[in-house]
Amino acid sequence: MTAYKELTTRSAAAILPTYGAQPLAFTRGQGTRLWDSEGRQYLDFLSGLAVTSLGHAHPAVTAAVTAQAATLTHVSNLFLTEPAVALAERLKDLLGWADGKAFFCNSGAEAVEAALKLARRHGKAQDPGKVGVVALEGAFHGRTLGSLAVTGNQAKREPFAPLGEWVTHVPIDDPAALTAAVNAQTCAVILEVVQGEAGVRVVDDAMFTAARKACDKHGALLIVDEVQTGVGRLGSWFAWQQTPVVPDVVTLAKALANGLPIGAVMAHGAANQALVPGDHASTFGGNPVMCAAALAVLETIEADDLVEHALDMGKELEARLDALIASSTLAVDRRGRGLLQALVLAEPLSADVTAAALERGLVVNNVAPDAIRFAPPLTVQSGEIDRMAALMGDALEAVAAKGATP
Ligand SMILES: *Cc1c(COP(=O)(O)O)cnc(C)c1O
Repeated sequence: MTAYKELTTRSAAAILPTYGAQPLAFTRGQGTRLWDSEGRQYLDFLSGLAVTSLGHAHPAVTAAVTAQAATLTHVSNLFLTEPAVALAERLKDLLGWADGKAFFCNSGAEAVEAALKLARRHGKAQDPGKVGVVALEGAFHGRTLGSLAVTGNQAKREPFAPLGEWVTHVPIDDPAALTAAVNAQTCAVILEVVQGEAGVRVVDDAMFTAARKACDKHGALLIVDEVQTGVGRLGSWFAWQQTPVVPDVVTLAKALANGLPIGAVMAHGAANQALVPGDHASTFGGNPVMCAAALAVLETIEADDLVEHALDMGKELEARLDALIASSTLAVDRRGRGLLQALVLAEPLSADVTAAALERGLVVNNVAPDAIRFAPPLTVQSGEIDRMAALMGDALEAVAAKGATP
């Protein structure tokens, strides 16, 4: 029995089936490459869902984690530790928020939960009924009950309803509807700059302008969920920097520690006065090992100019996707920004194309039935983008030739 088949059998007996069939098992990674349990090599253009932005096994992260793990791994937030304070300071600097403050947790959903609780506290201080949140259709903000309540994907919500009456979803491209949805009972508007899980859909500047204006008018907070877009992926440190507005609160997670679990909420202005001791907590939040990893990530991105590099590589990726659209009947459009892109197909065949790509040694993800997501590490090189395009071209051709698998 292969190592993969053996793991599949053990997994089926030991792990709850919340994920679909996993076609292979990875054992090792290095930069943009991965190796599976059968020794095959892959080009990774998914980065574990936009997480390993420095590539796999980056030496700076390995060194930071190893040193911190050998020194102090955890004491709880009843005590101070240097890495958490240093990380908060670093994030404030990068955001340009001199009065900014951080709350650390362990995932994106938890960061969204914390931001929602913060917004509620901020709202209730004005009026006990000021608890409403406006979010976008298609939005993805996490799987816990609070973050799921603001998530605008019906298929993910319905099995767990009821999720509360406090959320209003408006279309992704309707600033007037957003303006109309925000009122005196609204404590926050939450937006993504690019809706990653919705199929890499870019949210228009007009939505941000409308949200900022409505929040200011009604004393609500503007939260930008940067869990997927933050930390350089779009070719700026934070995605909101590509919009016309400045949010009150941002959430971060995925790429922040290159694969180690961490989440962060950053707040400034009136927003950072909302929470008081006892309001919110996380046992592992801000633990020294995760924070040391995140500091190493931020240091490396800065030292190696990876934000600018991501912008350049994003343009090359777009050019390669355009060439695929020109040469393949199946690929018809692309959308996204920087190194978060999707190739849109004429038919709902993205699962087949993703499987064909995997067979050829390329890891991408069928983010929607008709869209394939590309989220390579920020360290990706031109030659790797060329190689990806060749493999993807083959995969598209193979699927177009044979049609959908029955
Ligand atoms: C992935 C994601 C989340 C949830 O993060 P988890 O770490 O899976 O809880 C929240 N918001 C956005 C925008 C995401 O992409």
